[in-house]
Amino acid sequence: MLLEAKGISKSFGGLSAVSEVDLTIGQEELVSIIGPNGAGKSTLFNLITGHIRPDKGTVTYKGEDITGRKPYDISRLGIGRSFQKLNIFPRLTAFQNVQAALFSAQKINRKLFADASRMLGDEAEEILESVGLGGRSDTLGGLLAHGDQKRLEIGIALALNPELLLLDEPTQGMSPGETVETTELIRGLVRARHISLAFVEHDMSVVFGISDRINVLHQGMLIFSGKPEEVRANDEVQRIYLGKGEK
Ligand code: ADP
Ligand code: MG
Repeated sequence: MLLEAKGISKSFGGLSAVSEVDLTIGQEELVSIIGPNGAGKSTLFNLITGHIRPDKGTVTYKGEDITGRKPYDISRLGIGRSFQKLNIFPRLTAFQNVQAALFSAQKINRKLFADASRMLGDEAEEILESVGLGGRSDTLGGLLAHGDQKRLEIGIALALNPELLLLDEPTQGMSPGETVETTELIRGLVRARHISLAFVEHDMSVVFGISDRINVLHQGMLIFSGKPEEVRANDEVQRIYLGKGEK
């Protein structure tokens, strides 16, 4: 297993946001996390990436216990992520957003260089190309269309050269068509880079279409984990989450 969370729990006050969750992500595996709003999906990601400390449980990455480590340390170990809320520099161009992430990943302080404007330029362009922003390099982050901003976030996460990518609602706010397009793009780059992916997604056709394994969260608990066909066949999941009449 590349990543293994065991019995991981987090309460906020009296509310149990994530409760005794076991989650595994294998090498080059593509797993989705689904569940209604408030189910604990984002909190689960935050527990893995060190943004929130678990009350209980352990997170192991490549055999190493990373429970309670700082986000920066965890990202340096190779776990990249995007957030549910946009997290880009609006006043930097798309190119500069990715370049800044590359600098940070490689511990380069651009102030030490008289002209760092094109440093790591080829790498930045290549990443932008891979997230479908090849033609948008010089556009300010804040002026990009919403979908392009979401894809830029993925590019920023890729600058870290992660082995595991966690994407929290990468297609939020996109039309159904753009959602499918972006998911295909994500699947393509994950496969090309031979990395693993865990993602939160609401569009069930996307979830069932591209997941190796689907994890269903409900009220903080992992109520099911299995292949798409197993999830489809599970009555409890159908009843609680997918609902009658829906997919
Ligand atoms: P999801 O991403 O599945 O929609 P979240 O993980 O964001 O769910 O939230 C799970 C539950 O924990 C929700 O009830 C939410 O209100 C609560 N919660 C999340 N973060 C915090 C926080 N920082 N402080 C208090 N409650 C929180
Ligand atoms: Mg969320």
